[in-house]
Amino acid sequence: MAMALNLLMLGPPGAGKGTQAERFARTRGIPKISTGDILREAVHAGTDLGNRAKAVMDRGELVSDDIMIGIVEERLGRDDARSGFVLDGFPRTVPQAVALDRIMAGRDPLIVVDISVPERELVRRLASRMICADCGANGAPGEILCCRCGGQLVQRTDDNDAVVLERLRIYNTSTRPIVDFYRTRSTFRAINGAQPPDTVAAALAAAIEAAGNGNGRMRGGRR
Ligand code: AMP
Repeated sequence: MAMALNLLMLGPPGAGKGTQAERFARTRGIPKISTGDILREAVHAGTDLGNRAKAVMDRGELVSDDIMIGIVEERLGRDDARSGFVLDGFPRTVPQAVALDRIMAGRDPLIVVDISVPERELVRRLASRMICADCGANGAPGEILCCRCGGQLVQRTDDNDAVVLERLRIYNTSTRPIVDFYRTRSTFRAINGAQPPDTVAAALAAAIEAAGNGNGRMRGGRR
C-alpha cells in the first residue's frame, strides 16, 4: 500500500494555513483536521468543551495541552485519517509536538511544512479576515456572504486588534519553538507564505513532493 500522506502545517495565525490545508486536503481526498475549527464548532454547539474553551479563545490564549492532545488523539484514530490527513493548528506547544510523535508511533512519517509571513503582513491580514457565522468557512475577500452555504460573513471574535497582538505574542513564545523541534527532520520544509494563494499552493505541493521523495515512497510522489 502507498504510504499515507500525513501533513502538518505550521505557521503563525494569518499565514494562510487553514486556506491551504483545506485546498490541499480537498485535492488529495484526505481529511483536514483543524483544532481551531473543532473548538469553534464546540463553542457553536454549546458543548462542555465549547463552554470551557470560549473564554480562553476570546482572550487569544491557548486551550490546555491535555484537552488538545485528547482531541487530536481521538480524531487521528478514526478510520478516515488512516490514509493521510492535513493537520492545521496543532501542535502549538512543544508538549503537544512530543505527544503527536507518540500518537504517530508506528504510522507513516509526518511531513512538516512551515509557512512564513512577516508580522506586519499578518496583522494586516487578520484585521480584514472574515469567516462564515453559520459554517465557519473562510470568507472570500470583498464578499459579504459565504460562498459555501450563503451564511453571513463576520469577523472572528479573536481577530480584533488587541487579541491579534496577543495571539502573535503567544505564537512567538509558545509555538515558534516547535519549528526548531521539527527543522532537523528530513521531512521538514519551509515555504514563503507572503505570495498569492495559488503561488503558495504550488510551493506547498512542491515542498510536499520533495519531502516525500526524501523519505522514500509517498502517495502521489515519484520513487
Ligand atoms: P486557530 O483557528 O487555529 O487560529 O485557533 C483558534 C484558537 O483556538 C486559538 O487562538 C486557541 O485559543 C485555540 N486553539 C486551537 N488549536 C489549539 C491548540 N493546538 N492548542 C491550544 N489552543 C488551540
